[in-house]
Amino acid sequence: MQTTAQARDEMVRQLRADGITDERVLEAMAEIPREHFLSPELESHAYADTPLDIGRGQTISTPWIVAFSTSALQVSADSTVLEVGTGSGYGAAVLSRCCRSVITIEREPELAARARDALSSLGCSNVEVRDGDGTVAGRDAAPYDGILVAAMATDELPGALIEQLAPAGTLVCPVGHAGVGDLVRYRDGRSESLEDVGFVPLVTGQR
Ligand code: SAH
Repeated sequence: MQTTAQARDEMVRQLRADGITDERVLEAMAEIPREHFLSPELESHAYADTPLDIGRGQTISTPWIVAFSTSALQVSADSTVLEVGTGSGYGAAVLSRCCRSVITIEREPELAARARDALSSLGCSNVEVRDGDGTVAGRDAAPYDGILVAAMATDELPGALIEQLAPAGTLVCPVGHAGVGDLVRYRDGRSESLEDVGFVPLVTGQR
């Protein structure tokens, strides 16, 4: 039987084999206990490269997607970051180790509450979890050096998020239809497609 530390090392080895090279992201993922963000029944699957159910019809992204999208943001230790779609809080925990401060927003209050507890009990003191529509609920703290969207925007990048980027900021957001599309990186007024991805939909507006 593998220990969780061995499973985590194996996950990081696999991420390297799959092309992830950002050492700060790999180091964060080597340290953060992913099982801490899952319900007890799923803890034994915590390090499998598969999305897992976190309740309210939502999933925790695969380790590879978390690693790839966080790396794509190219943030520094000084950066302020907005994450849209807190889900379990695992992605925010990884971001918190790679930048100065994180505001993460979740539209399902039950998930936001659970993530808030998980992040504070891990000592991620530079993360603020907010309830609401992440495309607008972080406006007061804009501009951000990085914005990472963990749910899929329909057909185009959300203009409301582009407006919240600092001049040299980077937005990473899945864009597509019916859960399938491209992970898009936007900066300096230009967007590029990085990878084919599947995500739960970004749902904007009031609950
Ligand atoms: N990063 C997460 C995975 C998030 S799954 C993790 O590591 O677990 C995507 C989440 O986005 C879901 O929880 C969904 O409820 C949320 N979501 C969808 N649209 C949203 C919006 N407009 N604002 C905030 N959260 C949103």
